Amino acid sequence: MKLSKLFLFTTKEFPKDAEIISDKYLRKSNLLVKSHSGFFYYSPLLTRSLHKIRAIIDKEMERAGAQEVLMPILMKKELWEESGRWDNYINAKIMFHLRNRKDVEMCLGPTHEEAFTDFVRRFITSYKQLPIILYQQNTKFRDEIRPRFGLMRTSEFIMKDAYSFDYNQAGLDAAYQTMRAAYKRIFDTIGLHYIIVQADSGAIGGSGSEEFMVTADSGEDTILYCDDCDYAANVEKAESLLDTVIYEETGTAIQKLHTPDIKSVEELVEFTKIPNNQMIKTIIFKMIYEDREKFVAVLMRGDLEINEIKLQNLYDCLEVKKASEEEVVTLTKAQVGFAGPFNLNPEIELIGDHSIKSVKYFLCGLNTTDYHYINVCFGRDIAMPKTYELKLAREHDLCPRCGKQRLKQKMGIEVGHIFKLGTKYSEKMNALILDEAGNKVPMKMGCYGIGTSRIISAAIEQHHDDKGIIWPIAIAPYHITIIPTIDKPGVIIDKAEEIYNKLNDNGFEVLFDDRGVSFGFKMKDAELIGIPYIVVFGKKTVDGLCELTIRKTNQTIEMGIDKLQDFLRDSLNK
Ligand code: ATP
Ligand code: MG
Repeated sequence: MKLSKLFLFTTKEFPKDAEIISDKYLRKSNLLVKSHSGFFYYSPLLTRSLHKIRAIIDKEMERAGAQEVLMPILMKKELWEESGRWDNYINAKIMFHLRNRKDVEMCLGPTHEEAFTDFVRRFITSYKQLPIILYQQNTKFRDEIRPRFGLMRTSEFIMKDAYSFDYNQAGLDAAYQTMRAAYKRIFDTIGLHYIIVQADSGAIGGSGSEEFMVTADSGEDTILYCDDCDYAANVEKAESLLDTVIYEETGTAIQKLHTPDIKSVEELVEFTKIPNNQMIKTIIFKMIYEDREKFVAVLMRGDLEINEIKLQNLYDCLEVKKASEEEVVTLTKAQVGFAGPFNLNPEIELIGDHSIKSVKYFLCGLNTTDYHYINVCFGRDIAMPKTYELKLAREHDLCPRCGKQRLKQKMGIEVGHIFKLGTKYSEKMNALILDEAGNKVPMKMGCYGIGTSRIISAAIEQHHDDKGIIWPIAIAPYHITIIPTIDKPGVIIDKAEEIYNKLNDNGFEVLFDDRGVSFGFKMKDAELIGIPYIVVFGKKTVDGLCELTIRKTNQTIEMGIDKLQDFLRDSLNK
């Protein structure tokens, strides 16, 4: 492709609203153009990269035995009511929905479990027809609260979503492992550094799921991992062990302490000089269900925070919200900051995090404004409520697997997510088969997503320098760009064009910068748009020499023009 013909319009400035490097370079170069918040135009160069990513995914899906299909993006409400997810997604405000002229309500698919299950249940009736894995690479819509970071979080994006159907757990386990292996090959081929982490299943549901995280400071996900064993988890899911806290056996009786207007753990530490890990805070939450609400008070050790996702999973509700100030005052008859396990309104269920078991002689509230109890003992002064794993694991906590090393923290970009769904959809949607014993049973499903378009941003976050993008070879829109230093007719231009034609004819993916602009301008553009090999034809063309710059290593080599093609072939095949 000649640059004089290419639909490419680079600029000199970074867009003001771009926050991370991939968005800055993608939009400075206009490879990616913002239409409106969350929606983008993809330029020809970017579309080529996207197609390469799609092709790598397709190849590995084929190898994994998955068959490509296409599902409608618009789906009927009834289908989503069958799975019970319509209200859930509408309530979360994540789903675009509309009505057609006949007043049929539909949604723009944020994910496609329902459609795939419906498609498969129409034809599969016996275990003999299984296993099956189907997938698509299609547009998804999610009305994200805050679309941002270029292609990282958009309202319209391209996802590869695969769904496996099996008749027993062993089949599902095998499909899951096959897809996991395919994902590793996909991300290795693209050239991404990633870690596989334990993940929360979120609104998709099911048991057991892992995320593929591209490590980058700009990532929106926090990963906790252990250097010693292979434990790694999204903080949403992560567990950890706590150091033992040593208490003096004071034997002192419970005491009511006047704590005027002293509410937060920090203020209480300052006022009482009691360490925060010897306090128990009481936080009141509202669990929201389709048809009701329920209030729950959670006891948590004072130095720890609550992981609301764990809480939501425990109560299996649509949403978890902290109770509002008014709700707390009405329910506890005390100001916010003084709630506690004593004298608690019986309408509120009391539970605790496991960490409270490690606390003896602690401070807590008693639902009386301006007072706290100190020297409280579970068993002696109040019964220990039922406890669950509800805390937010932290960096430096002990690894929950080996119990020896301290957890470390990294940021990650979620590029893939695999789930064992089990029978969550097949049961509700009547996707039944006859098993070996002749019983009608729901199929066992797995689902496997990749953020095809998000990979573009993730790859640039890992592969760039201060001049621009450096595309990994596997997804570079073109591999080579040829730049003559002058644009006046003559031997330099002629030779450059001759080599361009030769490389083109021999199947190389090559650009030729034949634009009537300065050499500096051409070079800056080539660097910004990230072409891995830049070949410059200058004065030494007459001596049979050109200059080759390898962006990845920032090396510039002078080379015989006659050697160029072999060198490029060797380098690109490596
Ligand atoms: P996130 O936690 O980042 O919002 P998710 O867990 O909701 O993502 P999944 O339902 O697991 O996303 O979707 C599968 C894949 O689709 C994700 O791993 C991610 O790579 C991609 N993806 C999800 N939401 C977006 C989005 N808004 N923009 C671009 N890609 C996305
Ligand atoms: Mg996910």
